Amino acid sequence: MVATPIGNLGDITLRALEVLRGVDVVAAEDTRDSGRLLNHYGIAARLVALHEHNERNAGAKIVALLGEGKSVALISDAGTPAISDPGAHLVAAVRAAGFKAVPLPGANAAIAALSAAGLAEMHFLFYGFLPHSGSERRRQLETLKDTPHLLVFYESPHRILACVADLQAVLGGARRITFARELTKLYETIHACALEEALAWLEADPNQQKGEFVLLVSGAEVVKEEGVGAAARHILEILLAELPLKQAVKLAVEISGEKKNALYELALALKKGD
Ligand code: SAM
Repeated sequence: MVATPIGNLGDITLRALEVLRGVDVVAAEDTRDSGRLLNHYGIAARLVALHEHNERNAGAKIVALLGEGKSVALISDAGTPAISDPGAHLVAAVRAAGFKAVPLPGANAAIAALSAAGLAEMHFLFYGFLPHSGSERRRQLETLKDTPHLLVFYESPHRILACVADLQAVLGGARRITFARELTKLYETIHACALEEALAWLEADPNQQKGEFVLLVSGAEVVKEEGVGAAARHILEILLAELPLKQAVKLAVEISGEKKNALYELALALKKGD
């Protein structure tokens, strides 16, 4: 599983070049595109097609090649195979047949975007492509609405406006979006704004609607429940029945970890019988 560049042809590893030169067969999503790529590096390889429409059949042939003792490299049109690209079924078939599937890590659009976006969010959810149909897309977004983690989407220029409109409609205008467009290419752009400003930004310059996109959308804000949790209240009630108010509050704070002020207010209210 050999990662190839996502734009800049320099973004290929030494190991990838060595493997692509050395294998008996290179399986590629688009043999014409990959032919150009291999040509660029002066690699003459025997190419076979493996794309989403023939992955199972082509996979069986590749397993047969491995059975004959041949070596095969899989590349996709760009980036890391099997990441929003064909490859997963092939790997499963290769493993099931008792052969090894070896990753050769390299370029990946989502990771490139995350590394240069300057976002401090610790966790992210890689979603990849949302559905093409508007209603299906909005339905999927509803399921992601409360996710507290940064959301990472792939999007093509054909659907960027509709997709951003739906992101705003379903997730709300206050969330931040980072556009990571045409990474590693001439018109590379990384732009962050509120979702409510995003459509206007895209529409102000049609050039910004072209090319390939990674969209990073901040996660749902976690609303910390106001007041005291049920467990802390229960502890406080027990302590108040036995101890003076101040002492009960002090112990309840130690046991529950809740804020002293909140427990003190609650203790006063309980004493008053509210
Ligand atoms: N396997 C690839 C990877 O490892 O990132 C992704 C392949 S997926 C079919 C193609 C999508 O990845 C594009 O529609 C776009 O969302 C994203 N992408 C690929 N290259 C990109 C680039 N140079 N800049 C921004 N996004 C890119």
